[in-house]
Amino acid sequence: MPTTLTDRTTTVDLDARRSEIVAQAEAAGLRLVRFLYCDNDGIIRGKSSGMSGLIDRLESGIGLTVAMQAFTMLDHLASVDGMGPVGEIRLVPDPTTFTVAPYAPHTGTVLVDMQTLDGKPYAADGRAFLKRMIARAAERDLALLAAFEPEWSLATRNGDQFSPIDESGCFTSTGMNVAAPVIDEVVAVLESQGMTVEQYYAELGWGQQELSIRHAPALQAADHHILYRETVRGVALKHGLYASFAPKPWGDQAGNGCHLHFSAWNRDRTVNRFYEADGEFNLSMLARSFIAGILDHLPALVALTCASVNSYRRLQPQMWASAYRAWGPDNREGAVRVASPLKGHEAESTNLELKSSDSSANPYIALGGIIAAGLDGIERQLEPPPAVTVDPHTLSDAERKEIGADRLPTSLKEAIRNLKGDDTLLKAMGERLATSYIAVKELDIEAFASADDAFEFRQHIYKF
Ligand code: GLU
Ligand code: MG
Repeated sequence: MPTTLTDRTTTVDLDARRSEIVAQAEAAGLRLVRFLYCDNDGIIRGKSSGMSGLIDRLESGIGLTVAMQAFTMLDHLASVDGMGPVGEIRLVPDPTTFTVAPYAPHTGTVLVDMQTLDGKPYAADGRAFLKRMIARAAERDLALLAAFEPEWSLATRNGDQFSPIDESGCFTSTGMNVAAPVIDEVVAVLESQGMTVEQYYAELGWGQQELSIRHAPALQAADHHILYRETVRGVALKHGLYASFAPKPWGDQAGNGCHLHFSAWNRDRTVNRFYEADGEFNLSMLARSFIAGILDHLPALVALTCASVNSYRRLQPQMWASAYRAWGPDNREGAVRVASPLKGHEAESTNLELKSSDSSANPYIALGGIIAAGLDGIERQLEPPPAVTVDPHTLSDAERKEIGADRLPTSLKEAIRNLKGDDTLLKAMGERLATSYIAVKELDIEAFASADDAFEFRQHIYKF
């Protein structure tokens, strides 16, 4: 019996798929295939397999010390029980994720699941967490579609100094022309890996770009975001530039968000369950409860979606990044924006956007957290507060208080403190993932508190 898995639309024969990968890799002249994962601190890491033995490694994986899920972005090891020098897990490829990676010579990539030595999902793996939340949603006949919408900055490096490649303005053709050689290659390489580019423009900040790709089922959307980050950074390096997803690479420029769009469909994805023709802003009761769940957990949820020390420089009022626990139709200062649907295609295009989200997050953990919060809203049949149709910063304190539009956490420290008090999210993550995640973040908080601002900016630009 061939091993099979369901990727939601098709059933894949894994043995056959692995043989195909080897054939594809040989045909493309690859010398190495990177087995990539995203760690608890949002850093993409991996190990590579040579061509000899690839077929076996695709099945049994490559070993990894258990310590890595306690590693921080600064390569410091947090102290977590059972995550020290003794013990090993396996990085086992999901064969549906193989791609040729033209930004690195003769290289392919495959994304992995972390497994214990006896082949079980590893409890501290973020990808496993997202899979569990997808399964939990499926029990309610909800299949999430999602799109990560990343902004990023192109920079030159001179010694310790990273500088934006231009001083161009929002949506300007000047900005698009300066970045064109990089963007052209990024588009080609994304599409060669199966992602569909939707829109591109130069964003407000100097050197800032925004290029969006098509939505996909939740797990695949998170996988795509990993490949996207790899592609953008890899292509930029080929051009002698640094691309950075740091939430706030320069204090005086717009931040890099990674707004997360999502909608929830029925099992066969024929009905958008967030849509209701007669509902306020075309939203169903289910969508309203989902929003309410997100807002309810947001003070803790941002620890998962705005996951670095640098993230909280971005979440400032009147930066279009969201700073308050509020929602509204096309409100770009609220945490949850109801995106205006396409005229004539309301049923298909109704979706929500979490603005309090950036690319320093582990995309699996961020999306898993959103699903956990939204499902909690549905289970408790929560109703959201009234929608906000103005910039919440312009409301008085009393008006904000009335609708619960609290200021979002202003530091990772505050967000992690909230996460530690949010039993719903902790329970959804599970003890291993929650403990190691929190330990890693607390070590970052401590390390950056004892360093100067320049160190923080530099490390986030370089690492993300
Ligand atoms: N750069 C803004 C952010 O930090 C978003 C601007 C926009 O696309 O609305 O999220
Ligand atoms: Mg934008």
